[in-house]
Amino acid sequence: MADRMHAMEFRAVGEPLRPVECSLPCPGANELLIEVSACAVCRTDLHIVDGDIAGPRPVVPGHEVVGRVIAVGEGVAGFAVGCRVGVPWLGGTCGACAYCMSGAENLCDAPTFTGFTRDGGFATHMVADSRYCFAIPDVYDDVEAAPLLCAGLIGFRSYRMAGDARRLGLYGFGAAAHVLAQVAVGDGRRVFAFTKPGDSAGQDFARRLGCTWAGGSDEAPPEQLDAAIIFAPVGALVPEALKRVRKGGRVVCGGIHMSDIPAFPYSDLWGERQVVSVANLTRDDGIAFMDRVGRDAVKVITTTFPLAQANEAIAAVRAGSIEGAAVLLP
Ligand SMILES: [Zn+2]
Ligand SMILES: [Zn+2]
Repeated sequence: MADRMHAMEFRAVGEPLRPVECSLPCPGANELLIEVSACAVCRTDLHIVDGDIAGPRPVVPGHEVVGRVIAVGEGVAGFAVGCRVGVPWLGGTCGACAYCMSGAENLCDAPTFTGFTRDGGFATHMVADSRYCFAIPDVYDDVEAAPLLCAGLIGFRSYRMAGDARRLGLYGFGAAAHVLAQVAVGDGRRVFAFTKPGDSAGQDFARRLGCTWAGGSDEAPPEQLDAAIIFAPVGALVPEALKRVRKGGRVVCGGIHMSDIPAFPYSDLWGERQVVSVANLTRDDGIAFMDRVGRDAVKVITTTFPLAQANEAIAAVRAGSIEGAAVLLP
């Protein structure tokens, strides 16, 4: 086993991630030492490096990690050396606050987050709390599996939050929406994809994955929607989506950060329409999602970058210049 590791570290807003080398960490109680094989880039990583959300620094970003366990700490159950493992955004919870006690650990008052408040997977190795890691269905290779750990999973929580929508709108057709669209179509839903106006490649991509309709986010869909999920970090899409949902319909905001939501007439909310946000994930979400995408495999479209090109991968996600998800390979 190597005794050194490499990572791409975030130090300050406005600076590129820097390569660092250090000795391998030791897994503590309940922890796994993982050799990373793939880590996807999430929009949340952009919000971290842009300072839209602030945590301790320096930190190694990356919370869509797939790897192999190479050492285990005391008390680990469910994973052994050699196991494949997935590490998500939720890195730990207090287990004692009112949210944790009521099944809403995604809202924990004292959580830790992978790649934000503890080091993540933009690295050759990392340590994670085994109690928050997931097994991954065999039908996905490591690269395909990586975007499932957040884009897929948070998309799935948003989907559950959208309720029993027969006509579902997805605003922003990137890593999350391209997985979720296939899950929803598989469930017999009709999916309406909204991209940046004029993004005909994105709209073709959505249609290829089974969407009923695809158009610009400034366009009206051919029929009213039962619910819409907004993945793009654009507050102006909230009143836009509200105009497209029927009475009693719901608009779910799936991102951790959004630009300000502009004022809109109360009449657009009237009729018991709802706007809700989705925060983080619970372990139950992860287990249910892995079960769902294990039974009925989805196509995960990825573009890979070497770990050393993490800054280029972040730039590509920012530009929206790749289909599906960007994945770093150490
Ligand atoms: Zn808690
Ligand atoms: Zn994420």
